[in-house]
Amino acid sequence: QPVVAVVGRPNVGKSTLVNRIIGRRQAVVEDVPGVTRDRVPYDAQWNGRAFTVVDTGGWEPDAKDRAAAIALQAETAVATADVVLFVVDAMVGSTDVDEAAVKMLRRSAKPVILVANKTDNTAIEMEATALWSLGLGEPYPVSALHGRGSGELLDAILDALPEAPKIVENRPRGPRRVALVGRPNVGKSSLLNRFSGEERAVVDSVAGTTVDPVDSLVQIGGETWQLVDTAGLRKRVGKASGTEYYASLRTAAAIEAAEVAVVLLDSSEVISEQDQRILTMVVEAGRALVIAFNKWDLVDADRRYYLDKEIDRELRRIPWAIRLNLSAQTGRAVDKLAPALRKALASWETRIPTAQLNQWLTALVQATPHPVRGGRAPKILFATQAGVAPPRFVLFTTAPLDAGYQRFVERKLREEFGFEGSPIDISVRPRK
Ligand code: GDP
Repeated sequence: QPVVAVVGRPNVGKSTLVNRIIGRRQAVVEDVPGVTRDRVPYDAQWNGRAFTVVDTGGWEPDAKDRAAAIALQAETAVATADVVLFVVDAMVGSTDVDEAAVKMLRRSAKPVILVANKTDNTAIEMEATALWSLGLGEPYPVSALHGRGSGELLDAILDALPEAPKIVENRPRGPRRVALVGRPNVGKSSLLNRFSGEERAVVDSVAGTTVDPVDSLVQIGGETWQLVDTAGLRKRVGKASGTEYYASLRTAAAIEAAEVAVVLLDSSEVISEQDQRILTMVVEAGRALVIAFNKWDLVDADRRYYLDKEIDRELRRIPWAIRLNLSAQTGRAVDKLAPALRKALASWETRIPTAQLNQWLTALVQATPHPVRGGRAPKILFATQAGVAPPRFVLFTTAPLDAGYQRFVERKLREEFGFEGSPIDISVRPRK
């Protein structure tokens, strides 16, 4: 999600403008001279585009080195934002403080939109024209308080934002796409047959020929699902050359085409390298993941003991995957598959509201700050969720984070918000 930073002197009406942009009366702290606000991000939307507005707060106007304070604020804004709104009080006109800030802003390559706030009437609008002199291009005359000119400003913000897909609300969607994958003989066809209720995944008509990907629509748990490339599950008669390589490409393609993958493992055998490769494909493709331990009917107490150890060892890197113990043959726990798929997909598409995310993050870094490194500790300024399917997060920081601390944040993020059955991605954008 793109970030729009609001920068300006105290009392130019930044909070009011943020309120106007986010379109609701929210408890945005008032602009009181001398009160330094934290950088608070808010979710905003205009014409189907979502973005994050960051109120960069006021700086300490009585600070000794005022220019340095402004520079720091402007730098932070520029480093973390895609677009900067530079707010000036149209009734006051530009001041030397404004001009100092403009210098910093112009040095950056970021698009800056000049907002002439408090333009409550046409008389002030005439005054606002003088702000062309700041060299930031056309001033947008706006009355954040009364709403005047805010539509034009929002249009200008959208124009300046990087390209992004429109948010489409309530798009009708077809059945969810599932890849049923696993090495040969783990029971894929057997499981598919359970759902399709007929012997459909049997013998390929021509031995060793490539079959165009053919999906199947099957009922699982009272819902229709699209099983991707079930033609690939058909048994080939005889041994085609390069079969394994071909099967692996086919598995990768099925995973890519799916939203959620069911990786079938054979509980009666050790978790193999080939199993691991398939799991890795799912994780790297960023798909939701359900691991089904098939042939559970063959698992006795002895095998169970070793299997638990294997799981601890081999699946440690994906503790978030949903696991099921089932038997395609007896039908054991096969009814658990649909709920598991739904849960994994829900996690995969989870969006955490920015305010909630940052509330949690603030508490986390307060309780466990980043360890001090070379005399100072990197700070996390704020976070946004950049996307879903799978959930992707961006942490805006003062410096790169230690790998260990980043893992800690990811673990805590999962503890707080779940994401069971889905990979998540966290990237760090250090202020440069
Ligand atoms: P695929 O290659 O993954 O499609 O595997 P198949 O569905 O062809 O199954 C391979 C073998 O495992 C067949 O002999 C199946 O009868 C057997 N099989 C599949 N599922 C189970 C199960 O849950 N329990 C047991 N005991 N055998 C199974």
